[in-house]
Amino acid sequence: MTETITARLLIIGPPGAGKGTQASRIAERYGVPTISTGDIFRANIRGGTELGRRVQAVIEAGELVPDSLTNEIVEDRLAQPDAANGFLLDGYPRTVDQVHALDGMIGGASLDAVVLLEADTEEVVARLLKRAELEGRADDTEAVIRHRQEVYAEQTAPLVELFSERGILVAVDGLGSVEEVAERIASGLDARLAAPTGR
Ligand code: ADP
Repeated sequence: MTETITARLLIIGPPGAGKGTQASRIAERYGVPTISTGDIFRANIRGGTELGRRVQAVIEAGELVPDSLTNEIVEDRLAQPDAANGFLLDGYPRTVDQVHALDGMIGGASLDAVVLLEADTEEVVARLLKRAELEGRADDTEAVIRHRQEVYAEQTAPLVELFSERGILVAVDGLGSVEEVAERIASGLDARLAAPTGR
């Protein structure tokens, strides 16, 4: 019999800290789906949907999509059956308002752990400029990258204190190889959660 553990997780950190890369590893380790609002928005932009048309200009300017719209999208996604036993959120919540909306969606049950991926601003800007050369993301020009760092500092960084007060923060140094960072996250999370199935 496989024991089911519930893991409601969040990965948070400045743009370029490597959240997406680490998110897929964490999701696999704990057997939960990753829910990335950035990926959802980008897929909609690529697909030319109504939602994509609504958010494209905002995203390309490095601004945040309005909370009401973002909250609605996450609420729909969390209602899908694969999220019933847990999930890993990447890129949401990003504002204090979104934290309160999420609290409501999961009905008072708290997140089990929040991974904070820490990285120095100049390091992440350099990484994003490199990614811009390779992938050509529309929001990866230097001016927009710097603006996204400011938006993070103003709107998202205050959430760290909030999760720390809730006693669920797992802070991890994001500098190092993908493997090294993955190891740090795994040991930090394992210490906080029940051992993952099959270990
Ligand atoms: P990064 O972490 O590299 O900035 P993401 O892929 O998480 O990139 O997000 C890309 C963009 O999508 C953000 O700059 C923002 O415009 C929009 N976005 C993603 N998540 C949210 C959110 N929770 N609230 C508002 N806007 C969001």
